[in-house]
Amino acid sequence: MDAAAEFGRLSGVFYSGGSFLPSAGERRTVLDPATAKPIGEFADVTAEEADQVVTTANAAQKAWWAESALHRSELMHEVAREMHRLAPELAELLTRETGKPYKESRDELTWSISATDYYAELGRHSHGSVLGPSVAGQLHYTLKEPMGVVVVILPANFPLLLLMWEAAAALAAGNAVIVKPSEWASLTTLKFMEVFTALPAGLVQCVPGGGQVGDRLVRHPQTHMVGFTGSVPTGQAIAKACAEQFKPHLIEASGNDAFVVMPSAPLRTAARAAAFAAFLNCGQVCTSAERIYVHTDVYDEFADLLVEEAAKLRIGSGLGAVDLGPMEHAEERDRYERILARAVEQGAKVVHGGGRPLDLPEENRDGFFVEPTVLVNVTPDMEVMQAEIFGPLAPLCRVESFDEALKLTNASLVGLGATVYTTDLQEVHRATTEIATGMVWINAPLLDNDAGPFGGRKLSGFGRQLGAEGLDTFRHTKLVMIDPAASEHDFWWFPYSDDEAFPQD
Ligand code: NAD
Repeated sequence: MDAAAEFGRLSGVFYSGGSFLPSAGERRTVLDPATAKPIGEFADVTAEEADQVVTTANAAQKAWWAESALHRSELMHEVAREMHRLAPELAELLTRETGKPYKESRDELTWSISATDYYAELGRHSHGSVLGPSVAGQLHYTLKEPMGVVVVILPANFPLLLLMWEAAAALAAGNAVIVKPSEWASLTTLKFMEVFTALPAGLVQCVPGGGQVGDRLVRHPQTHMVGFTGSVPTGQAIAKACAEQFKPHLIEASGNDAFVVMPSAPLRTAARAAAFAAFLNCGQVCTSAERIYVHTDVYDEFADLLVEEAAKLRIGSGLGAVDLGPMEHAEERDRYERILARAVEQGAKVVHGGGRPLDLPEENRDGFFVEPTVLVNVTPDMEVMQAEIFGPLAPLCRVESFDEALKLTNASLVGLGATVYTTDLQEVHRATTEIATGMVWINAPLLDNDAGPFGGRKLSGFGRQLGAEGLDTFRHTKLVMIDPAASEHDFWWFPYSDDEAFPQD
C-alpha cells in the first residue's frame, strides 16, 4: 500500500450508500503527528450531504432488520474477516494519522475483530423473554427491537475500537449506523469503511467533520439514538440536545482514574503496571492511571522503580521500534504541557522526563512528542490530580492509609475506572465494594473483556457498552400481551358490580 496515495484518495470524501463520494464541504488539513507535515484533508460534510446519509440509513435499516438473525450474524463475521485481511494497511494508516505505535494499532484491530465476532453471535441469541402471565391462558412476553438509525460520535484515541464497541452491538441489534469520526482520525476511519463491504449498502456510513456535523446528526428527527464517546462538555451538550426529543443516548465521557499502590503489592510489578497504565498511547486513554496514590511505607521505593520503568521507554515515530509515539495533535500537547507546568509551579517535583525529547531524527523534530514524566511531592488538591491530564504523566501522591486512598479515589467528579495494587484480601474486598466507578481493576490495569460491560458513573457518563448490557443499550424492549381466546375480561371491565362500589350506610 502507498500510504500517501491512500490518504489522497480518502481526502475530501464521505462514505455513503457503499461508496466514497466527494463532499462539497470545506476542507481541513490533516497532519502526521510524528512529523507535523500534511498528509491529507478531510471535509466538513454539508448539511445536505448529512441529511442524505440519514435518508439512506433509514432505508438500509429496514431491510437489515427484515433479515434473519442468522443472516445478520454471518455477514458480521464476514466483516470481522475483512478487518483481519485489511489489518496491516489499516494499522499503518492509523499510526500515520494518530501517532500511536504500530503494535498498538494492530492491537486495536485485533480487539475490534473480537468485539465484532462476539456481537455477531450475541445478536442471534435472546430477542426477548417469556413472562409468567398475569391472566391465565394468555401469553405475555418481551420483544427486543432496534432503535433504528444510531449515530456514533467518536474521539481519536481509539477511533476504530470504540467505533466497533458501539457499531458491532448496534448492528447486531438490527440498527443502521452513521459514524461521525474524530477530526484527528477521519481518514483512517474512512478507510475502515471498506471492512463493511459485505453488509448492505448504506447500513454503515461515515460523515467526517467538526462538532456541527455531529450536532446536526444528533438533532436530526430521523436518527433514533446517539452513542457518544469524548469529553464531558461535549457529552453534556449532546445529552441536552437528545433530551429535547427524549432520544436515547449512551455517554462515555472523560475519566480521571486513581491507581492505588499498597505495601502488600509486588512493587516491581506495580511499577511496571503503573508505567503501562500512565503512558500507554501517550497517556491518551480514558482509563489511564491519572492519580497515583502510594502508601507512605513504599512511596520512595515505588517512585524509584517507576522512574526506572519510565527510563526504559523508547520514544519516536510509531512506525519505528518504539513504546511511545507522539501525542495526537499540537493542541493536546500544548494543553498537557500547561497542566504539567502548573503542577511544578504548585510544588510538584519532576523526577523523570518533564520536557520534549531532544534526540529524535531530523524528520521528527517538529512532531508532537513529549517525554513520559514522573512527578513526586504531589498533593490531592493540585490541578494535576483534579483534572484529566490525557498525557504521559504519572503524578505520585503519598497517602497514610488505605482509608485515605479510598476517600481520595472517590473524591472526584468523574467515576470511570480505578486500579488497586494489593494482595491483602480485605483491601481487595473493600476496593471492589467501596469505589464508586464503572470498573475496578485489582492488579489488572486497563483490561477489557468483550463480554463485560464498560462505562462510567458521575460525570464519566451513563449507559454501558460491551457485554449483554452493551447489546441492550441499542435495543428497545416491547411488552406484548396476547389473549388467544379473545375472552371477556369481566374481572375488571365495565360495568362495575354494585358490590365493589364504596359502601353506603
Ligand atoms: P471531544 O468531546 O472534543 O470530541 C469528541 C467527538 O465529539 C468528536 O468527534 C467531535 O467532533 C464531536 N463533537 C464536538 N462537539 C459536538 C457537538 N456539539 N455535537 C456532536 N458532536 C460533537 O473529545 P476528544 O477530545 O476528541 O476526546 C477525548 C476525551 O474522550 C477524553 O476526555 C477521554 O477521556 C474521552 N474518552 C472517553 C472514553 C470512555 O469510554 N469513557 C473513551 C475514550 C475517550
